[in-house]
Amino acid sequence: MARIHQLPPNVITKIAAGEVIERPASVVKEMLENSIDAGATRIDVEIENGGMDRIVIVDNGGGIEADDLLLVFASHATSKLSDADDLFRVATLGFRGEAMASIGSVAQVTLQSRPAEAPSGAEVHCRGGELSPVKPWNGAPGTRIEVRHLFYNTPVRRKFLRTIATEAGHISEAVTRLALAYPKLQITLTHNGKRVHDVPSSATLPERIGIFFGDEIKDRLYPIEATRGPARLVGFVADPAVERGNNRLQYLFLNGRHIRDRSLGHAIQEAYRGLLMTGRYAVAFLFLELPPDHVDVNVHPTKAEVRFRDAQAIFHLVLSTIRSRLNAESLVPRLQAPVVGTPIQPMARPDPPAELFARPPEAPREEEDESDESPHYYNLSQINGRTVAVPAPHPPANGSLRALQLHDSYIVLETPEGMLVIDQHALHERILFEQLKKRWREGSMEKQPLLTPEPVELSPEQAARVVEAKAELAELGIDVDGFGGATVLLSSCPAALNKMSPQQILKDVVDFLGSQDRAPSREVLLNDLLSMMACKAAVKAGDRLSPEQMTALLEQRHLVQDSHHCPHGRPTSLLFSRKDLDKQFGRI
Ligand code: ADP
Ligand code: MG
Repeated sequence: MARIHQLPPNVITKIAAGEVIERPASVVKEMLENSIDAGATRIDVEIENGGMDRIVIVDNGGGIEADDLLLVFASHATSKLSDADDLFRVATLGFRGEAMASIGSVAQVTLQSRPAEAPSGAEVHCRGGELSPVKPWNGAPGTRIEVRHLFYNTPVRRKFLRTIATEAGHISEAVTRLALAYPKLQITLTHNGKRVHDVPSSATLPERIGIFFGDEIKDRLYPIEATRGPARLVGFVADPAVERGNNRLQYLFLNGRHIRDRSLGHAIQEAYRGLLMTGRYAVAFLFLELPPDHVDVNVHPTKAEVRFRDAQAIFHLVLSTIRSRLNAESLVPRLQAPVVGTPIQPMARPDPPAELFARPPEAPREEEDESDESPHYYNLSQINGRTVAVPAPHPPANGSLRALQLHDSYIVLETPEGMLVIDQHALHERILFEQLKKRWREGSMEKQPLLTPEPVELSPEQAARVVEAKAELAELGIDVDGFGGATVLLSSCPAALNKMSPQQILKDVVDFLGSQDRAPSREVLLNDLLSMMACKAAVKAGDRLSPEQMTALLEQRHLVQDSHHCPHGRPTSLLFSRKDLDKQFGRI
């Protein structure tokens, strides 16, 4: 049996290095943070071969006293904390005094520094943890650190590095995060002699977003700002039209530190619910500010994750701030220029019109008018024989709607802005969804008791899931009880679904519950069940509508909070603007 023995200090440091220094980008991240902590306003980063061969970072920060130079590479040596209580009010990016020791133990480092007030500076070399004597150095005030041959003495770790392009990409990401977190910072990144990023101090946050992610995103940002208790949230969220296939463009910063947080990622997605297709992700840049004692940043080796004292309050702050900002916008999906057959080249216009099918100037959104003195009531049974009554809006200003149903699926409507093509099912689904949701919130979901409770045979697992969701289902008008084994007893159904057989309703609920890999939260479950009910109750593609039914449907368009998307996030309508029609036909 091997005996236990204490590891020598150089081995301990190398092990610790593995936790913080994983790749060249970790070196860059740690050194950038040190520059910021030193008060730098300008940082230049130069790398060779993805940072694997050489990384040089020069800053104009406060510098390091010559007497302290050797301490920089000692483990647990920091100028930022002095006692344990400081850990609970960390106001700097670094505090563990570990990063430089780790870097020095796995690379060849030259550190040169001069405090602003000192007549000259000093330098020291650290090679695999071995320090050289301190020598004078004549450079500008600030700090210059050069890291060469990362992992030269830990070949196994070097083998884990990826291609030059991948490593350079990670470094670019570290620079991007810092440039977003510090909007006054001037920062450059140069790779193998080529300038990759050059962010002037004057660039505003949206301009920085434009520099890193392009104008398509920069031009579709909505600013957000909210304060709740000690927490403040500012930033930008992007129009759902610029969604992405992953969540990489959801940036979250806490007190100047880039963090990842699954739960807040969910809050962002939840805020966009109904505006994005399943599997698509919103683009958002969020900056949270919290007093240091409301958050623990000492829970993760690279501090990428933090622990909030009141995580739920922060979740709601993010969700409600974004949600209400998005609701304030009229988000009509933009059409891509259609290419039918050979695209027509406009003769006198060599440039294809870039703004083709761009959104017209925002029309003021019609608000639901609660104080309407003479509410008419339309019965949606006019459309589909189902019973959901809603107040009708005033008739359109010009008296009648000019609309046409195509393929028993789409409604084409003339509007002052142009031509609107509406998906009848998607729109009706959205209207029903909001009506059902309103009723559910008011506790007035109508239910229809069955004359005799109906036993429904399920698999034992399905039956268990249904009984588990019993309380939520009851809120929606679906009363179920376990009947032993795999049978459940259904005793009432939502009145809104009175055209469906009770068996079918329960079967759909079971399918839905079975498609969830984890038990969804109550809110998500109810929301999804309501959206499923709306989908089932809505007119279908292929249903022919009478002119009256069409009018009834269209008039309710204005009553819903988001008439532009169905609950699954598909667009309900597409606008071809008058101007674009004129342009396409060469009239203007
Ligand atoms: P930490 O940042 O956790 O204190 P580090 O190992 O990253 O630990 O750095 C050790 C110390 O070296 C810092 O506390 C700081 O005093 C000093 N230091 C490192 N880089 C710089 C820099 N660019 N400018 C000024 N001081 C620096
Ligand atoms: Mg540090």
